Amino acid sequence: MADELHNQTVTWRELWNETADLIGDRAHARWLCEVASSSARPDEFLAELDQAATVRMVSHLDAMLARYRAGEPVQYVLGQWSFRHIELAIDRRVLIPRPETELVAEVAIEKAAAIGPTRLIADLGTGSGAIGLAMAYELPREGTTVWITDVSADALDVARSNIAGLGPAGRNVRAALGSWLDALPADELFDVIVANPPYVAVDSPDLEKAVGDWEPAGALFAGPDGLDDIRTIVGESTSRLRKGGWLILEIGADQSEPVRELMAAAGYVDIEVRPDLAGLDRIAIGRAPSSTT
Ligand code: GLN
Repeated sequence: MADELHNQTVTWRELWNETADLIGDRAHARWLCEVASSSARPDEFLAELDQAATVRMVSHLDAMLARYRAGEPVQYVLGQWSFRHIELAIDRRVLIPRPETELVAEVAIEKAAAIGPTRLIADLGTGSGAIGLAMAYELPREGTTVWITDVSADALDVARSNIAGLGPAGRNVRAALGSWLDALPADELFDVIVANPPYVAVDSPDLEKAVGDWEPAGALFAGPDGLDDIRTIVGESTSRLRKGGWLILEIGADQSEPVRELMAAAGYVDIEVRPDLAGLDRIAIGRAPSSTT
């Protein structure tokens, strides 16, 4: 943004127009201005278009624009992103929440909602907390407990800040540091275990450049075939699920067959893979036949 604007009155309408001209994207420009103006809601931003921005707000916008123009994904620049019905604080310690993961959460909510009167849920490798916190938010307050875990203390800090932003539903959430099933209490059987684990093959030619450049490698890569973490989760979760409990995993578009095989070998039944909105096989679902504990 032009420096002369710092010292004179400028309205949000002008800032939005200038930002849009500068970056060539009116929607992104609006989101950046909304965050810089601290509007809690989009309609609030529209109502204050003729108000003057403060110097502090313009500096915030300038700082965001510098990052945006350096190629940083707009979600990280904004520092927040919506996921289903909740707003998550995000930064480079966690993956950007994605639309296909909203569908994974939807399936997990559907399965968990059919269980009652209580439901014990785990979202493993939660990152920003997206899946687990959306579940806590959308499922009945009464009887729902959601464990969210991550092996990255940095990611869990982000998830914890998002629990705080969840309101009363946050009281149903427990956060635990640790790798996959190791993070969960050993003496409880879960009704639903859900995860969006790393599933990209190391050296995958398909990974988008911006994803590899900006998002945390630990949340993306899982060995030569991308299945290392899925193997661990599928293998270790049978003994941690209640009889008839559900395992729900986000998987890579080309992993449907190997993941079906892994689930079948581990004893899962009613195995199903559902597509995302782009028609790609993305959501693997299986049911634990019986508990081994
Ligand atoms: N969907 C992400 C991508 O390929 C990968 C996320 C993951 O590994 N869980 O951009």
